[in-house]
Amino acid sequence: MTHPVPGRRDDQLERLSGGPFDMLVIGAGAIGAATAWYAALAGARVAVVDRGDVAGATSSASSKLMHGGLRYLAMGDVGLVREAHHERRAHARTVAPHLVQPLEFVVPVGPGSPTALWQVRAGVFLYGALARFADGRNGRISLASARRRVPPLVTGGLRGTVLYHDHQTHDARLAISALEAAAQAGAVVATHAEVVSLRLTGGAVTGAEVEDKLRGGSVSIAARTVVNAAGPWVDRVRRLEDPAAGTSVTLSKGAHLVLAGGDGWTAAVTTPLAGGRVSFAIPWEGMLLLGTTDEPYDGDPADVAATDADAAQILAEAGRSLTADVLAPALVRSRFAGVRVLPAGGSSTIRARRETVVSRGRGGMVSVAGGKLTTWRLIGARAARLALAPLGGLRVPARPVALPGAAPLAAIERSLAASHPQLPADVRTNLARHYGTCSADVLAPADADPGLLERVHPSGPDIWAQVVYGRDYEWAATVDDVVRGRTTVALRALDDATVREKVEGMLRR
Ligand SMILES: Cc1cc2nc3c(=O)[nH]c(=O)nc-3n(C[C@H](O)[C@H](O)[C@H](O)COP(=O)(O)OP(=O)(O)OC[C@H]3O[C@@H](n4cnc5c(N)ncnc54)[C@H](O)[C@@H]3O)c2cc1C
Repeated sequence: MTHPVPGRRDDQLERLSGGPFDMLVIGAGAIGAATAWYAALAGARVAVVDRGDVAGATSSASSKLMHGGLRYLAMGDVGLVREAHHERRAHARTVAPHLVQPLEFVVPVGPGSPTALWQVRAGVFLYGALARFADGRNGRISLASARRRVPPLVTGGLRGTVLYHDHQTHDARLAISALEAAAQAGAVVATHAEVVSLRLTGGAVTGAEVEDKLRGGSVSIAARTVVNAAGPWVDRVRRLEDPAAGTSVTLSKGAHLVLAGGDGWTAAVTTPLAGGRVSFAIPWEGMLLLGTTDEPYDGDPADVAATDADAAQILAEAGRSLTADVLAPALVRSRFAGVRVLPAGGSSTIRARRETVVSRGRGGMVSVAGGKLTTWRLIGARAARLALAPLGGLRVPARPVALPGAAPLAAIERSLAASHPQLPADVRTNLARHYGTCSADVLAPADADPGLLERVHPSGPDIWAQVVYGRDYEWAATVDDVVRGRTTVALRALDDATVREKVEGMLRR
């Protein structure tokens, strides 16, 4: 049994004003969470604030892939691919084996494909070589073998199908777990708390004024160093330090659809599209995740949304490889969109390399944005090292460290089957995949209140114990935090009025 640290929002807000902290991190997406985690591992006293929920923005809107990035190979970015391969494997082995699973990908190559079959074969061979062939054989497979992996794959007219290996994950759970690890090391985390201005002492940034977005009022946080991990808002926060700060990033919108389906799939599909894009069809959470689009975006990141046009495009692009019956609009359960952060100055967001943009402002604030979820841990560790360097004496580790709950999935499922045989298999799997060994903590209050073992909605695998755990240990403060961020209820379109009302009541307790 691990020891979760209470994470109720009101207590956290109160503790924020009790600084000074060694580090304030602005933004609780993957990058802010990793920065806080690694700074806390170094012994720093850390505060983290987010204007919304933990991982409520880009870090819950990704394609959920831990990947080397096959398309980056086409751009000749061998170093980026090698680093990403190393990270995805370190996650599956050490950091979060319960959250990061190996996944096969089938690439169908037809007459209309922008890439020739030999090019795809050569690409996946090099891709495998950069991973030292550690994941299994990459290369051409028969059409029959491809269809066994993906039953609705359209194979008529194909020139061939090619197989490669990557991993998939749950983006938001990585960030939540990293903040739990940081909190266990003493970090204070407050959500729905927006930095509206920075504290300046003799020109140096020494903290921030934070507005409570749920209750009103504000808190002043004193910190020796400040990291701006505000994702698509990075330049907005940089201008709080220096109103004349220029534009460091370009934004691009990407949308996804979640459909009922995915039964019998043991692989995902990567369909090459014109202009260097690909369409993914990925079995995820017992459903099918389709995406993504890639369009320049100049609106407010808070307003980004998947439109009907995005949905139509995603279904049409998936339809190049999949039979129409699995893509019927009636199967769509939910949609979401996020904003990629790319280094400014590129002419095309599709061609832009997913590099991290790091800068130190004139007041000393370190700003970090961009990069990929796959390398979030490295990006965070580097940002923590850079920000803590002037303080001296704190050594930020570089090595992969296990997140709370980390263990092989099969072992967790066995242990849950032994401790809670009364739980249906889908509920146990859902717990194991999201919480790892921390499932025991999630289930503990159900000893006294067995009603917590009941499903939040009869058609989904989430149970009420998760709502209580989210409220008490994972900073869930609103109904949306629970249905979107701590359970799969909204993803499955199961957040009806009855569920929302009951969740609301649970949050008030
Ligand atoms: C469509 C799409 C698909 C992707 N797919 C993949 C993939 O499959 N694999 C992969 O490796 N990467 C993928 N990525 C990239 C990956 O999702 C991002 O690199 C990563 O999530 C960025 O995390 P972040 O913490 O920088 O940003 P965010 O998650 O956006 O976090 C920034 C946070 O800062 C907060 N914030 C902003 N301003 C303030 C303020 N003033 N005060 C307090 N808080 C503030 C926001 O609320 C937000 O929560 C994808 C990205 C997109 C958009």
